[in-house]
Amino acid sequence: MKYAQRPEPEVSAATDVKAAVLSTGVCGTDREVLSRKGFIPPDNSNFLITGHEVLARLVETGPDVEGLMPGDFVTFTIRRGCEACGPCRIGRPDMCETGRYAERGLGYADGFNSEFVVDSAANCVKLPSGIERLGVLCEPFSTVQKALNEAAEASRRLPETGGAPWFHGLRCLVMGAGPVGLLASMALVLRGAEVWCVDIVDERSARPQWLRAIGGNYIDARKLKPGKLSEAAGGKFGLIYQAAGDPESACGLLRSLAPNGVFIFFASGRGMIRSDGSLITGIIDGNQTLIGSISSAPRHFTMALESLAHAELKWPGHARSLLNAEFAPADFKKAYREDPLKNIKTVIDWR
Ligand SMILES: [Zn+2]
Ligand SMILES: [Zn+2]
Repeated sequence: MKYAQRPEPEVSAATDVKAAVLSTGVCGTDREVLSRKGFIPPDNSNFLITGHEVLARLVETGPDVEGLMPGDFVTFTIRRGCEACGPCRIGRPDMCETGRYAERGLGYADGFNSEFVVDSAANCVKLPSGIERLGVLCEPFSTVQKALNEAAEASRRLPETGGAPWFHGLRCLVMGAGPVGLLASMALVLRGAEVWCVDIVDERSARPQWLRAIGGNYIDARKLKPGKLSEAAGGKFGLIYQAAGDPESACGLLRSLAPNGVFIFFASGRGMIRSDGSLITGIIDGNQTLIGSISSAPRHFTMALESLAHAELKWPGHARSLLNAEFAPADFKKAYREDPLKNIKTVIDWR
């Protein structure tokens, strides 16, 4: 990784917008890609500009751009579709069937860690006033919104309760109190759920404190005997959101899922899964649903903005307090190598 000079991007199409980057987020996906295989550059390039979570301010809009103007605070969606499959052709590259998509900052397309970025207005999301400063949280929060939306869709198969009301009073477990786990907890609390979050950090540290301030409950897995999770929470969980952890411990949590429950697999990982057939029998006997969810579409960014505005009314300034480690662009190595447990969310400040 290096900090390098690149030509300034220019508006080239009538529907392009150009924005000055204010800050970018560093997340577990960046660190995972770095440790696993390294970032894959775009065609015709031998390196990739990182950064897929961004807050920026428009400085120029092409003549055919409507509804956006210089000065607007914005963020951008990151996945660019293959344009060959059905979902991509109707603007849902998050559900791409060929896998031949590009993701800005993650692979095959440059990201947002630069002073200026140019993109099509179709990929630009305007931030409403009051939550302008939360732009960096929009992309991770949009993936949470998509996953919960999928779970709500799955709940519609249940007799009587289904869809949005299903969350009311629902006992939910979030595995992992990292930024995504905390955002998922916040989204669930806002939907009226009873939230339990499990991790292996000290209960007096920043993450559990942030969680408790929004009404979530924290469980330190190190203090719990195996299999006692649902007992500690007062019963099995109607929804489990796996935001961290290796595959084996994720599958272990399946036994804590209530009948008719929904399990969301969100964090991929390496390692063996050892289990006998009773794991699958439990899923069958419990009429349970397992969902894998990745990426997001513009509609999920809209949901994220609504949810952030709701959170801002309920707990002013609290979502912003997730961003508690800021680095200058020249210190990007520190930002990427920062111990993820030391802070909640790391950002690079481009101002
Ligand atoms: Zn991310
Ligand atoms: Zn596709």
